[in-house]
Amino acid sequence: MNLTKLGKIFADQEKFRIKQAEKLIFKDLISDWKQASVFSLALREKLQENLPLAIENKLFISKDGRSAKAIIFLEDGFKIETALMAHGDGRNTACLSCQVGCPLACKFCISGTNFKRNLTLDEILSQALFWARYLKEKKIGRLSNIVFMGSGEPFLNYQNVFQAISYLNSPDYFDISARKISISTIGVSEGIRKMVNEKYQVNLAVSLHFVDERTRVEMMPATKKYSLKKMWEAIDYYIKETNRKVMFEYILIKGLNDSKKEAEALALIMKKPLYAVNLIRYNKTGKLEPSETKAITDFRGVLRNRGVEVVERHRFNEDIFGACGQLIGK
Ligand code: SAH
Repeated sequence: MNLTKLGKIFADQEKFRIKQAEKLIFKDLISDWKQASVFSLALREKLQENLPLAIENKLFISKDGRSAKAIIFLEDGFKIETALMAHGDGRNTACLSCQVGCPLACKFCISGTNFKRNLTLDEILSQALFWARYLKEKKIGRLSNIVFMGSGEPFLNYQNVFQAISYLNSPDYFDISARKISISTIGVSEGIRKMVNEKYQVNLAVSLHFVDERTRVEMMPATKKYSLKKMWEAIDYYIKETNRKVMFEYILIKGLNDSKKEAEALALIMKKPLYAVNLIRYNKTGKLEPSETKAITDFRGVLRNRGVEVVERHRFNEDIFGACGQLIGK
């Protein structure tokens, strides 16, 4: 898919034609120009040749039959992964990647092993389009939520991510409300500050994971550059300006960050308005082990007792190696 090309192909056509084409792609979710019977055969052939709609992919469907992940093959031979979480209550969330691999190289995440380049606007949107088509074909419903939690750091591909958000949000394209779009960052303070002035009121999630900065830098080497001090300042500025909640992601790894002492330390930091915690059981990617269920319950208990808002992330796609931290692993 190539939106710029679409403009070129329709440059010499009447104005309403490009609108028709966009409706066919984003609303009717056609995957072949043969289905575009409103266009002449000549135009359909031209479109087929210059702007094929097929998205090259390999699909893996989870045991539950709904959640899935897909490898998408890019034009230059690289590949990315994207995941779908069908919650069964009408919410269908696509987890999008924004880079080929990830430059951050966090030790617990496989996506960080092989950074190549930023994704283009079209490559980001193709992932959403892929799942929108899938949901329609399987009669599951419509794509309702987006999380930028696949491989890559959204704030290191800021412009393309926010341009993608404008399409995801637009009633003419995906029509997903900004409140149902979330960006997750390792804590790039410049990005957090910049986001304050965006037109789209998308949700902000921050990968905190460790309260002790030494361990954090060790496990997430890129945070040497994005220090906690700068991050907290940016987040407090963000909250002051937007009055919106920030979700702190905290992966629970056995023996590394799941003790009561760490829960107490986290609770202290979280005792601020509009701070909330998202606990995530670590998905296995190597030698580290996920926390025991009891450790997770105790950890959550400490936070709740201290009045911290806590949610736990539901686990999807583990059987197809498509859970958080596992994208582009196998
Ligand atoms: N670079 C951004 C966007 C990626 S989001 C960020 O760091 O936030 C991917 C989410 O999955 C992050 O919260 C990340 O910390 C989490 N994650 C990574 N590896 C994981 C693993 N092995 N188990 C569970 N969650 C993991």
